[in-house]
Amino acid sequence: MATKQKIKRYEWNLEPILKNKSLSSWISEWKKTLEYKVKKINSFCDSPINFEKWLNNIKNEEKISNVIANYVSNHNCENLGDNQWIGIQQQLSYISKKYEDKLANLVHVYLQNEKIIKKYLTNKKFKNYKRMFALIFRERNHILPLEQEKLWTKLTATASGFNEIFLTLSCNDISFPTIKDKNGQEIKIISSYDLIKYTESKDRCLRKNAWVAFHHSYYQYMNTFSKTLFNNFLNANNYAKARGFKSYVDEVFFNDEINENILFSLYKNIENFKSIFIEYRKVKKQIYQKILKINDIEPWDLTTNYLKTESVTIEEAKKIVFEALTPLNKEYLDVIKKAFDQNWISFLPKKGKYSGAYSIGRTFGLDRYFILMNFNNSLDAINTLIHELGHSVHSYFYSKKQNEEDNLWPYCDSNIFYAEIPSICNETLLFFYNLKKYENNSIVKKYLIMQFIDNFFNCTTRQIIFSNWEYIVAQDINNEKTFTVASGIALYKKLIEKYAGLDKFKKNDEIYQYQYSTIFRIGHFYANNLYVYKYAIGQIVALYIAKRITNNEMLKKYFDFLASGSSLSPLETINLLGISLTDKNIYIEAKKTISDLIKELQKK
Ligand SMILES: [Zn+2]
Repeated sequence: MATKQKIKRYEWNLEPILKNKSLSSWISEWKKTLEYKVKKINSFCDSPINFEKWLNNIKNEEKISNVIANYVSNHNCENLGDNQWIGIQQQLSYISKKYEDKLANLVHVYLQNEKIIKKYLTNKKFKNYKRMFALIFRERNHILPLEQEKLWTKLTATASGFNEIFLTLSCNDISFPTIKDKNGQEIKIISSYDLIKYTESKDRCLRKNAWVAFHHSYYQYMNTFSKTLFNNFLNANNYAKARGFKSYVDEVFFNDEINENILFSLYKNIENFKSIFIEYRKVKKQIYQKILKINDIEPWDLTTNYLKTESVTIEEAKKIVFEALTPLNKEYLDVIKKAFDQNWISFLPKKGKYSGAYSIGRTFGLDRYFILMNFNNSLDAINTLIHELGHSVHSYFYSKKQNEEDNLWPYCDSNIFYAEIPSICNETLLFFYNLKKYENNSIVKKYLIMQFIDNFFNCTTRQIIFSNWEYIVAQDINNEKTFTVASGIALYKKLIEKYAGLDKFKKNDEIYQYQYSTIFRIGHFYANNLYVYKYAIGQIVALYIAKRITNNEMLKKYFDFLASGSSLSPLETINLLGISLTDKNIYIEAKKTISDLIKELQKK
């Protein structure tokens, strides 16, 4: 009994989403809002009253479809192999597609009525819809003739298929081998998270076996991954070109309201971190040589958790989260309390569960902001927890603002461009808290500094390597160049050299090659949104603001930022923090912070 209760406590409670109604009654309500749109599509611009009714219906539709999406998608991610939820999800996408067909001319209707809509928008009542419609009207050059739009909605039904194949293979169908520890004892592996946990083990044999098993498990499917990715990029490029963009990358820039210079200046600024990254790896290696008493440090040695406190319970993690986020205010902490008390979080790993962590989007109309993670009792799991809470609390604040100003609902959303800022800011505050806590314990302190610097380079240099790879591969495929496993790996190695410098391994040994399969299992590549470089933005900006968060001025700016949702363009949203992304100084400051921490590591 006790075990059952304990597990319940760490599962999320999805039922309140449905507010005591059945899923099928939500689905029929959703269909009603869609029917309304079909009925009114040619008359909603006839009068301001009809226009208002139209907007209210869309608002309602979004609320209802978010309820359904949150409920079903979370259930599905709990077990990606569960046929019941796979079936429900397919049914929902059929409904959605059916109405997309019927409403294929909607953008055309908006564009035809641009003048009259703009006139309505001058009415104070509609002032908050200006950006929503400006975003629709700017699509003018990328809209197809009506008959083609109708065909389009049919053909794009499989657009996310590559992502589904990737997820199914990498989270569900993939199996991991049993591994042995130094005594020859066999250990059964359920998920990739087990393997990651064992790479932290003090048993060198076990952590090597875990490291090799982890990389090899993906390595053996490299051909399938690379073919899926090739077709995904080919598809995305063709779709983009059909809509008058030069390429898929070009289309994402348009959607993000930026030009490619933002990306290139980021690449340049992050490339400048190369020298401190090399220096850091040298220092880290020396520390591990000393602590582990091993001369020939291997990649799997650098993941060892040599601290005594190997295992953190969920309760301990929660307590640490509260203490670390104290520099924010009570208002912020109250939301965290809600997250724990109302069971927003699915903590524990299990077979078939989505292998990463997320805080779910599409939250307009909801009052809980669910998190899925795979808590493995490591110190790193606290980072993941506080990270995902950053996303959920962000959702909470822009949703709250939307309640105060009802018409802001179209902006009750985040944008991946800045979505990582609040989450990495939380991680940084956790680090500052830990530095203080372990001020007089140089072993723990050094460990935490290394964990922080590792995360820093994971978010900046590593993600920029991924991003630059994604950019080049997507563009190459657009330009009809060859893409194979070999060319993908060669490019990956070249970019590692460019941004980080290559580590010297015993090159002939095949096991070292396994790790290069990493580049094919970056889930974001299959989701077509040029995501990964946004981690670097998140890291650089988050470090900048976390250092200033106790300062009253930054706290106000930060809450303005959290509440603004997507009511401004991504760059304008970041400007609310008083930051410009092309300002070299924020990168120089970050480099200096990391440099100082490396010096701290070199102290006795
Ligand atoms: Zn995140």
